[in-house]
Amino acid sequence: LFETNPPPWELAVEDDVLLASIVFSKSPHGPYDYRIPDSLREDLKPGMRVGVPLGHRKKSTLGWCVAVKEGSAAHRKLRDVAELLDDTPLCDAALVRLVMWMGHYYQVPAGQVFDTLIPSSVRAGAGTRQTTYFTPAKDLTDEQISKLPAKQQAVVRLLISSGKPTTAAELAVAVGCTEDPIRRLRKKEILIPEVRREMHSNIRILAQHNDGERKQKLELTEQQQAALERINTAVDSGRGRTLLLHGVTGSGKTEVYIKAIEHVVSQAGSAIVMVPEISLTPQTRGRFESRFDSVAVLHSQMSPSERHYHWQRIRRGEVQVVIGPRSAVFAPLPNLGLIVLDEEHDTSFKQDSQPRYHARKVAHARAMALGIPLLLGSATPSMEAWHASQCGHAELISMPNRVANRPMPDVQLVDLRIRDERGGSGAISRPLHAAVLETIRDKGQAILLLNRRGFATTIQCPSCGHVVACPDCDMPLTHHRDGGKAMCHYCDYTIGTPPWCPACRFDGIRYGGLGTQKLEMEAKAKFPNARIARMDSDTMKRPGSHQRVLSEFRNGDIDMLLGTQMIAKGLDFPNVLLVGVINADSALHFPDFRAAERTFQLVTQVAGRTGRGDRGGRVIVQTFTPEHPAIQAASRHDYHKFVEEEMVNRRKFNYPPLGSVARIIIRGPLEDKTEAVADGILARLESARDLLGSEVRILGPAPPPIGRLRGKYRFHLLLQATEAAVVGETIRRALADFKTDPKDEIEFLVDIDPVNL
Ligand code: ADP
Ligand code: ZN
Repeated sequence: LFETNPPPWELAVEDDVLLASIVFSKSPHGPYDYRIPDSLREDLKPGMRVGVPLGHRKKSTLGWCVAVKEGSAAHRKLRDVAELLDDTPLCDAALVRLVMWMGHYYQVPAGQVFDTLIPSSVRAGAGTRQTTYFTPAKDLTDEQISKLPAKQQAVVRLLISSGKPTTAAELAVAVGCTEDPIRRLRKKEILIPEVRREMHSNIRILAQHNDGERKQKLELTEQQQAALERINTAVDSGRGRTLLLHGVTGSGKTEVYIKAIEHVVSQAGSAIVMVPEISLTPQTRGRFESRFDSVAVLHSQMSPSERHYHWQRIRRGEVQVVIGPRSAVFAPLPNLGLIVLDEEHDTSFKQDSQPRYHARKVAHARAMALGIPLLLGSATPSMEAWHASQCGHAELISMPNRVANRPMPDVQLVDLRIRDERGGSGAISRPLHAAVLETIRDKGQAILLLNRRGFATTIQCPSCGHVVACPDCDMPLTHHRDGGKAMCHYCDYTIGTPPWCPACRFDGIRYGGLGTQKLEMEAKAKFPNARIARMDSDTMKRPGSHQRVLSEFRNGDIDMLLGTQMIAKGLDFPNVLLVGVINADSALHFPDFRAAERTFQLVTQVAGRTGRGDRGGRVIVQTFTPEHPAIQAASRHDYHKFVEEEMVNRRKFNYPPLGSVARIIIRGPLEDKTEAVADGILARLESARDLLGSEVRILGPAPPPIGRLRGKYRFHLLLQATEAAVVGETIRRALADFKTDPKDEIEFLVDIDPVNL
C-alpha cells in the first residue's frame, strides 16, 4: 500500500522519524509518505486534511492523512507536511479504515472516497464564521494591571473574574467601552486571542423544527414483539451480524425499528436509519421525531449550512437517530449501536456515480468492523439479502401478517390482450374504470401507478417512421404537454415539440406511448367528479410539494393520486380502497437480469398501499403478460414462490446473488476510438484472467441499452464469476497501469456489483 516503504533491513529506528501517509482526491492519488515536522507531531492524526508539497507545484496540495507511523533515518529525505487544515479529524480511525476498504473494493482512489464520505458542506465549513476569543496572559501581576488605563483595566479584571474566553464585542458591551482598548491589550500581548470556527446562530434555529406530533406508543403485536426480542438479543450480543426482517406491507416494521432503537438509546447508543427518500415519506419522519429527543433528518433539500450543522451535532454525539438516504451510512455517530436499512431492496441505495457504492454493502462493512447489528427490512427482500438469509450469512426474522389481522388485498389481473377487457383506446381498462367509480361512490381513495412521466413517450412520424430523438443520447424524446416541450429524460435536452416531421416535413406527427400527463388527462375526462392529483418528478420539483400533496391526500381533499413509482413507496393511508397498476410490464422487458425482480417488487409494493384500514382494499393490475411468473407471484402475495423460481434463473447463468458481476464502462466522444479502448481493455482482462487461472466470464464490449448518453459513446464490459474477489482482482490487474491518450478524452469506470445494467 505504501509505496515508499523501505526494505525491512532498513527499518531499525535510528532516529525518531514520524511519517504521515497522505492520499489525494485528484491524480496522482498516492498514498505517499511525508515526514511530520516536530511542530505538528502532537496534532496530526489520521482523518485530518493537510497541505503538502506535491511534484513541482508551487502551492501546497490538499491531501488526507490516512496513517501515522514510525519511519527511520532512510526517510529523512522525504518532504515535510506543510500545514494542518483541520483542528480535529473529520473522521475517526474506524471511518478511515472504511474509506480504505471502499477504495480497495470499489477500485476508487481513497482520496475520492473521502470526498464522498465527508459532505462538501462540511469540507467547506458552510455556515460557519471565525470568531476570536480572548483570555488574559498567564503571568499577569496585579501591579501590571493597575498601571493600565482605566478601560483596559476593567476589561482585564472582568476577564480574570469570569474565567471564560470572551469575544471583543461581548467584552466591550460588558465594560461599556469601544473595542479599541481590547485591540490595544492584544497588541501588548496582555490578551491572548484564540480563533474558533463556529456556526451562525440562525442556522441552529432553522434546523430545530419539530412539528410536535403526539407521542403515540403502540402495544406491539406478538409477531412484532418476537422480532424485537431477536433484534435486541443481537444488539446485546456485541457482535457484528446481519438480520433480515422480512415483513409484509403493513406488518408494522417501522414500529419494530423504533422499539429496537429505543433499546439501543437506553444504553447510550445511537442508530442510523436509511430510507429510500425521506421527503416521500413525511409520515415516517414524523414517527421518529415524535419518539426520540434528538433526531437528525438528512435530505436532499437541505442547505449546505444546515447539513454542516447537523453533521457537527452528529459528530459531537448529540444525536440519537440519523435518518437519511444512502449517504447516511457515513454519519459520524460516535457510539453507533445499530444500522437499519429500510426497504433494503430499493435501487436508490446504489450510487450511480463514482464511487459506485451500495449502502447495503458499506453498512455491512461498517457494522461488522464495529461489532454491531445491521438490520435489513423489506416486504420484498432483494435476492442478495434473501440468499444471505438462506446460507447463514443473515438471520431471517419473518412477519408474515399485517397488524390487526388485516388481510392482504385481493389482486385482480386484467389481460390487456383481450379487447373486451381493455375497453376503449385509453389506458384505463373496463374493470379498472368500474372499480374507480365504485371507490369514489363509496368515498374511498384510489392510487394509480404508471411508471412513465411526461405525456407521450414517443413522437413519431406516421409517414416516414422517423422518431424524434435526443441528439446526445440514443433515446426518443418524451412529449410534455405543459408548454409543448419535447424532453430527453436522460440529459434534460429540451426543444419545442416539432409541429411537423423534422425528417420528411409531413404535417401530422403522432404522439405514441403513454406518460402520467396523458393518464391524468384521461382520468379527469373519465371521472369528472373526482379530485385528482399527479405526483411525478415534474410536479414535485418545488421543495415541500410532496408534503403538501400527501397531507391533502391524508385529509381526504384528494380522491385519486396518480403518479410514478414515487407513490409506490411507504405511504400508509387507511382510506385507500383501490390501487391500479396501469402497465405492470413496463419494467419487464429491460435487458437486465433483474427485470423480473424489479417488476415483482414494484407491483407488490404498490399493492401494499391498500387494505391498511378497516375497510379493506383491492388491487387491479393491467398487463399484457398475466402468465409471467413475477406478475403471478405478486398477484398472490407469494414472495417465496417468486424467489424460488427466480433463484433457478439466476443459478443457470451464475448471476448474483449466486455469482458476482462487475462492469467496466468506457465512454468517449468518438465511437471508433472508444471501441478500440474497450477492445484494449478486453485483451488485458483476458490475459489477467489467464495469469490468475480464474474462470471469469467476460462479456462484451457491447453498447449498453443506451449506447450514447450526453453526447458520449459508451461500451460496456461485463465480468462474471462465482467469487467477488476474483472478479475484483482480475480488473485490478488488467487496469493497473492502463492509460489512454488524454487527447481522446476517453474515460473508463469500474462498477462493482452494478444494479441497473
Ligand atoms: P410496514 O412498514 O411494515 O408496511 P408500517 O410500519 O407502516 O408497516 O405500519 C403499518 C400501520 O400499522 C401504521 O399505520 C402503524 O402505525 C400501524 N401499526 C404498527 N404497529 C402497530 C401495532 N402494534 N398496533 C397497532 N397499529 C400498529
Ligand atoms: Zn439526451
